[in-house]
Amino acid sequence: MSDIRLVNVSKAFGAESVLENYNLSVPAGSFFVLLGPSGCGKTTILRLIAGFEQVDAGQIFLGEQQITNLPANERSINTVFQNYALFPHLNVFENVAYSLRIKKIDNELVRSKVLKILHTVHLEKQIYKSIDQLSGGQQQRVALARAIINEPDVLLLDEPLAALDLKLRERVLIELIELQQKLKTTFIYITHDQDEALAVADYMAIMNHDGKIEQVGTPSEIYDRPKTAFVAKFVGTTNILKGVLKVCDTAQVQIWLEGIDQILIIDSCKIPVKLNDNLDQHKLLLSLRPEKIVLTRQNNKLNGYEHMSSGEVISIIYHGKSTLYRVRINENLVITVFDQNRTQDNANQIEVGENIYMHWRAIDVVLLEN
Ligand code: ATP
Repeated sequence: MSDIRLVNVSKAFGAESVLENYNLSVPAGSFFVLLGPSGCGKTTILRLIAGFEQVDAGQIFLGEQQITNLPANERSINTVFQNYALFPHLNVFENVAYSLRIKKIDNELVRSKVLKILHTVHLEKQIYKSIDQLSGGQQQRVALARAIINEPDVLLLDEPLAALDLKLRERVLIELIELQQKLKTTFIYITHDQDEALAVADYMAIMNHDGKIEQVGTPSEIYDRPKTAFVAKFVGTTNILKGVLKVCDTAQVQIWLEGIDQILIIDSCKIPVKLNDNLDQHKLLLSLRPEKIVLTRQNNKLNGYEHMSSGEVISIIYHGKSTLYRVRINENLVITVFDQNRTQDNANQIEVGENIYMHWRAIDVVLLEN
């Protein structure tokens, strides 16, 4: 297990610059997820780390070793591709044994290694089946077994679950987490599915459309304390509120919330902007997650919730375990609320057109860097 570092890496394809002075540090033994919109450069980063593409500038380190110009087959790094890239004419055993055969490893050793790894990925019963006799999930596990049999320092996974249906994806995801915890190999996993990313990652890096990293952190840091509006909106759903700074001293910060017309009071240490004398010039963006808001029909403030706003319900979308409400406060501001469906009290359901009260706490509002 080794850490991976990309230092000031740049990469262009013809006139199109994909990465510019890109820096990334992946801790040894971690399950690290690169999450970003389509085309932002995630696969390019994996291909550079694997050695399938060359950097235009910058350096790549595997532990203490600089591997920038090392050929792909000399790096202790393997890749699991989206389409698995298995050999259809070989059976499961020979697919997994392939890289050991190339190294001319003794037959007995090959056999024991392959059996052990097939046991790890729960494929003992499929050993002599051909690839086209396997389900999608089983093929995915053959690809994994093939990639880890050499005990690489780093395993790169390029959307490995994309070809699986939802239920199977959930199951394989759990197996993948357990496998990584057992092997302690550094996993770098790319996806554009935010739920998948939050579920598997020890750490995640969020990339924007320009291929720049907006934030790196644990899933809860990213979800609960997003730094930018892009991260807040890309990972999960959120309400972006606009505010104007009114008071900022060592004791507290007061922000007037546009549209809601209330003063939000937060700790001064949370202000992410440099201040000049005219506080009114400071326009701020804030994030409030929909599940942090409580809905009531009564016009009474809830205990512990400093803020209450009213609005008209304009749409309701049922999601099984929760329901999404869109509530219009005024012509410029609609708030999204997720309400847990705790009971099946059909008679008491909120309806479109009703006036409703939203309650939320100052601590759940996150100030974003503009
Ligand atoms: P997705 O999530 O859709 O797989 P991605 O974030 O992995 O996207 P990349 O595949 O790294 O994005 O592509 C980044 C950009 O680089 C894209 O605009 C793509 O068209 C371009 N690109 C990637 N590989 C090549 C190549 N070999 N030649 C030319 N352009 C390329």
